[in-house]
Amino acid sequence: GLKPLSDLEIARQAIIRPIEEIAAAAGINGEALELYGRYKAKVDPALLTAPRPAGRVVLVSAMSPTPAGEGKSTTTVGLADSLARAGHKVMIALREPSLGPVLGMKGGATGGGYSQVLPMDEINLHFTGDFHAVTSANNALMALVDNHIYQGNELNIDPRRMTFKRVLDMNDRALREVIIGLGGPTQGVPRQDGFDITVASEIMAVFCLAANLADLRERLGRITFGYTYSRTPVTVADLGVQGALTLLLKEAIKPNLVQTIAGTPALVHGGPFANIAHGCNSLIATQTARRLADIVVTEAGFGADLGAEKFMDIKARVADLAPAAVVLVATVRALKMHGGVPKDRLTVPDLEALQAGVVNLRRHIHNVEKFGVTPVVAINQFSSDTAEELDWLLEWCAAEGVQAAVADVWGRGGGGDGGDELAAKVAAAVSAPSSFRHLYPLELPVEEKIRTIAQEIYGADGVDFSVPALKRLADIEKNGWTGLPVCMAKTQYSFSDDASRLGAPKGFTIHVRDLIPKTGAGFIVALTGAVMTMPGLPAAPAAMRMDVDDAGNPVGLT
Ligand code: ADP
Repeated sequence: GLKPLSDLEIARQAIIRPIEEIAAAAGINGEALELYGRYKAKVDPALLTAPRPAGRVVLVSAMSPTPAGEGKSTTTVGLADSLARAGHKVMIALREPSLGPVLGMKGGATGGGYSQVLPMDEINLHFTGDFHAVTSANNALMALVDNHIYQGNELNIDPRRMTFKRVLDMNDRALREVIIGLGGPTQGVPRQDGFDITVASEIMAVFCLAANLADLRERLGRITFGYTYSRTPVTVADLGVQGALTLLLKEAIKPNLVQTIAGTPALVHGGPFANIAHGCNSLIATQTARRLADIVVTEAGFGADLGAEKFMDIKARVADLAPAAVVLVATVRALKMHGGVPKDRLTVPDLEALQAGVVNLRRHIHNVEKFGVTPVVAINQFSSDTAEELDWLLEWCAAEGVQAAVADVWGRGGGGDGGDELAAKVAAAVSAPSSFRHLYPLELPVEEKIRTIAQEIYGADGVDFSVPALKRLADIEKNGWTGLPVCMAKTQYSFSDDASRLGAPKGFTIHVRDLIPKTGAGFIVALTGAVMTMPGLPAAPAAMRMDVDDAGNPVGLT
């Protein structure tokens, strides 16, 4: 047979319309549109004449995935295209890809097959410069902090107790630990420092939770970047540079408008880590999309135990929005993996493994229901899936009383008929009554919030706090941060904190190693196990396949 086209080849063959046409169809007035070339534009929410947020939000999440990803972005794009095809006024809100993973393992992060946002290469590379702005704001802060220490350190900052690092939008393990300020008295004060990837910066998390410029400035001011010699937190407001950082972000904070292959409008904006941050696009993009469309399809990173829980307990709380439905992306191959099949045999038909692995999906379904939101299972179809496997899975969903549809938005596109049935089920779920609730009230002590998530969502027996974590809990109490929600950093491959425990594990404890207060973003990160805030590159990085042809067209961007 023919070799299937790559995502990039499909994207390059697609017909792309001038962005003004997409904007006009979406109801964006000309004054609010700032063109970045022909196919990208920023939208200024302050100049938008559209009404206040009212569109319903559909959150796309997933079962516990395989390392290849189960197709959340692909389903987000394809579902929106299918809803548009069915006549709904719809808009997508998605994260911007990080350059590190693009050049490393993952390739692009703009959907796949016939469900992609365009221009695929530009969105995956420098796009409109938002990540540059976040990187610059982060590094400006660090330069100002080190200068403050050098100039006499009036704030009494302890250089050994800095909690903020410099950032770079690249997977660069060699920069994880560095010593700065070497070279004598005129070169600064030596201290141990390091680099994180830009998407792990608290500035990115703040950027994605801010309601507007004023709120952005407030949140930036509240960031704790370190501690004094007497162990009191030092904030950006103490240094007095929240205004400068806001200035550096004033254009970046406007959402970016692009289009899907089928011409559906998409706001692609912001991209915080899904482990030490909340893992979804900017709140401004979500709220702007809600002003323009009846249904907003958005995605949260990782499986539903992480992405959906954080969406409900962090983002939805800040935005005061109630998601109308949650789409759980499931694949036959991931279910087989949870049923015990090794990763290299997932394309071999195996009904028994599928039947054993479906317990993973069941726990995610029940979790979504705990938030009072209707789940819809999207079975993302792969060419290796057999009719027998797909039929069994559909019947299982029916027996569980959960709506489900097989979607081939990757192969046929949402603009084609690949997602019609899924769109119909999602539209029905959106208009059904729901009674959204958060999992825990903010008044609960931090350790109880963590225990609630661990027991209710992960199915753990309990939580074990390390000695440093217990000390942090006391500090959190002392500093008055107990009212913040919790942002769990856990492996996405298991409900437990051990990536190898697949399916729906029982009889385990969640181990909280450390707690990191993110006072600007407004949550406490609970670390279970090691979390990489500066990833490395693999032995054969995706970059080795990449090039540009003589006409300037990208090659090998997956
Ligand atoms: P996630 O958002 O869950 O990480 P993506 O949507 O980015 O997943 O998809 C991951 C990769 O899998 C992409 O390269 C995409 O093209 C591919 N993919 C997604 N769905 C399918 C499918 N049904 N068949 C084949 N490949 C797919």
